[in-house]
Amino acid sequence: MSRVRGKDTKPEKSVRQAAHALGLRFRLHRADLPGRPDLVLAKHRLAIFVHGCFWHRHHGCSKATMPKTQAAFWADKFEANVNRDRVAQEKLTAAGWRVAIIWECETRDRAALEGTLAGLVPHR
Ligand SMILES: [Zn+2]
Repeated sequence: MSRVRGKDTKPEKSVRQAAHALGLRFRLHRADLPGRPDLVLAKHRLAIFVHGCFWHRHHGCSKATMPKTQAAFWADKFEANVNRDRVAQEKLTAAGWRVAIIWECETRDRAALEGTLAGLVPHR
């Protein structure tokens, strides 16, 4: 369980597939951008992060549970993750990017996911 974020997680694949279905063009994990966004739609100046609810602490989500053992360790780890996310988002915004977070729990319903993506890029 040491990996904070896998490269090809199922939620990410779902988002990619939905983006493809909408005919969106994107690049993956651009290392030259803060936080290496999971999907980058350069044409729309849009960076998308697909976040696991547990690791990235989806507020109010049932998947963002707190492990019962080693509470301090987990609290530190989660705080570091959330801070890293926030810093990356601030840097991207400052550089003129729009940032969207798609949570893992929002990727299961394909139709809803396509609706979310379509809403992010109204002018395709
Ligand atoms: Zn969630």
